[in-house]
Amino acid sequence: MCINCKERFLQKDLLRLQCVNKKITKHSGIGRSFYICKKCLNDKNLAKNLAKICKIDPKTALKMLKEIIDNG
Ligand SMILES: [Zn+2]
Repeated sequence: MCINCKERFLQKDLLRLQCVNKKITKHSGIGRSFYICKKCLNDKNLAKNLAKICKIDPKTALKMLKEIIDNG
């Protein structure tokens, strides 16, 4: 389920991420993870929702997300 729109998608249509020590990274296979769907990647509420999960500020959250996307 996407943390932003709360809709359900196939796993291949979702980006699986995790937050470790206030850093958002791709899921390493260990620990808790969360999902974002592709259509929410540009959603204006995403930064806020990411920030809440990771307990960081929305600007930082969005920056880290962008780096993950840019790096594939
Ligand atoms: Zn979504």
